[in-house]
Amino acid sequence: MDGILAGKTIVVMGVANQRSIAWGCTEALMAQGAQVILTYQNDRLKQSLQRFVAPTVPLIACDVADDDNVDRAFASIKQQYGAIDGIIHAIAYADKATLEGEFVNTTKAGYDLAQNISAYSLIAVARAARPMLKSGASLVTLTYFGSERAVPNYNMMGVAKAALEANVRYLARDLGPQQVRVNAISAGAVKTLAVTGIHEHQQLLKLSRSMTVDGEPVKTREIGNVAAFLLSDLSTGMTGDVVYVDKGVHLS
Ligand code: NAD
Repeated sequence: MDGILAGKTIVVMGVANQRSIAWGCTEALMAQGAQVILTYQNDRLKQSLQRFVAPTVPLIACDVADDDNVDRAFASIKQQYGAIDGIIHAIAYADKATLEGEFVNTTKAGYDLAQNISAYSLIAVARAARPMLKSGASLVTLTYFGSERAVPNYNMMGVAKAALEANVRYLARDLGPQQVRVNAISAGAVKTLAVTGIHEHQQLLKLSRSMTVDGEPVKTREIGNVAAFLLSDLSTGMTGDVVYVDKGVHLS
């Protein structure tokens, strides 16, 4: 199939269901001719994926809470499918208590958990994948505007996203000499499983929608199309960047 990703193999991390941003990315990448490998967090999510993902798409276990899992997952991908052209990292988690009320009440455990899963994991993934990334490969992660503004209840995840965006810049510098690029998409609010963990997420979604240029929320497929561009050779001049795909919410 022709397309800007024809001949490329991309690992997509973070599909939980068909509402996931990672699924919008997967569909966009496949539409551009990529071969996609999906990773899943646990057996429950594997079963969810098996309900809607074509059986020809490889599924690999990878819980990023543990570096050994990440190493094992990429070793297994390398052994079965060889070198890869890119990765989408669409993973985040924070415990509910850190996504409500006053940020000043954030506990050390809550802080560490959100940073580990939502920000540090990008470093672990980049390190594990490094030996199998082809020259010209591209890594893309997902962030949110709450990294720059104090969005009500986004709290700990905003801090983790700020760290994630800094990770993107430092990784871009490290991997650049190997001709590997690293960028982030700052996506607009979309109703996914992750968002429902935020206290009063309905208000957040409503407010975000009211701030888009046309009153309509961004679609996961629109986010995926930009991910496809960032993974393609059309964006070889971009690295260490954060690109908004939020239909203008950041303009207000
Ligand atoms: P989602 O719930 O569909 O996806 C989150 C994914 O993270 C799930 O697949 C889950 O299995 C995975 N995950 C959590 N802990 C993990 C672990 N320990 N190991 C492996 N995987 C783990 O939600 P989503 O909104 O599609 O989230 C994808 C990314 O997009 C996240 O980084 C999120 O912060 C970001 N984002 C979301 C929005 C939004 O409004 N939904 C906006 C901007 C950015």
